[in-house]
Amino acid sequence: MERLQKVLAHAGVASRRKCEDMILEGRVRVNGETVTELGRKVDRMLDRIEVDGKPIMTERKRTFLFYKPLRVITSMSDPQGRPTVADYFREIDERVYPVGRLDYDTEGLLLMTNDGELANRLTHPKYEADKCYLATVKGHPSEEQLDRLRRGIRLEDGRTAPAQVRRVKERRNTTVLEIVIHEGRNRQVRRMCEAIGHPVVHLIRTRIAFLTLGSMKPGTYRELKPRELERLK
Ligand code: URA
Repeated sequence: MERLQKVLAHAGVASRRKCEDMILEGRVRVNGETVTELGRKVDRMLDRIEVDGKPIMTERKRTFLFYKPLRVITSMSDPQGRPTVADYFREIDERVYPVGRLDYDTEGLLLMTNDGELANRLTHPKYEADKCYLATVKGHPSEEQLDRLRRGIRLEDGRTAPAQVRRVKERRNTTVLEIVIHEGRNRQVRRMCEAIGHPVVHLIRTRIAFLTLGSMKPGTYRELKPRELERLK
């Protein structure tokens, strides 16, 4: 959320000072309501902002598929100065935001967009986009343990929805599992695996709905094609 006068100035309406005057003069509406105080915080992607009855110029909508590398935080800035996903989009004029999040120590697919409606829809539990992960876990879980994940397992924030779980590979000390879920709770895959006693040592998201990593390399992105955007909707 940002201050209304900042969003107006950013959209090229006028200087910040002039925008403050316009607000005080009652010329600015947010979601149909005239706002005359300067402290109002708005969401530049979601709120409908009008000046003299005309919507402010909104940015071209852009959506990217990004391969988030390990040790990058899913946030637009970090007080501790760690690399953030925003660092990878500096050459893009529009300010794109992550859709959902991947942990600092998880790599893989992340959508970045300035289309607030699309972001809302994709993160809404009802949308139920499949997300596929390859989780390397400690040890060798039994079929019974994997069945617990498949059925849904109790976590501190409630039971998880049924998941698809497949054993991909067994190594000497670890097992690679493919886990498909459509919920997006905080650290969900890690907590699910922890709950059966096989903590995750490496996690990668390989697919969101029909969008796959393919041959993408960590730190790269590509813009979604109109056809792909249509399919996401
Ligand atoms: N589940 C997790 O535990 N971490 C992620 O980053 C994504 C899903």
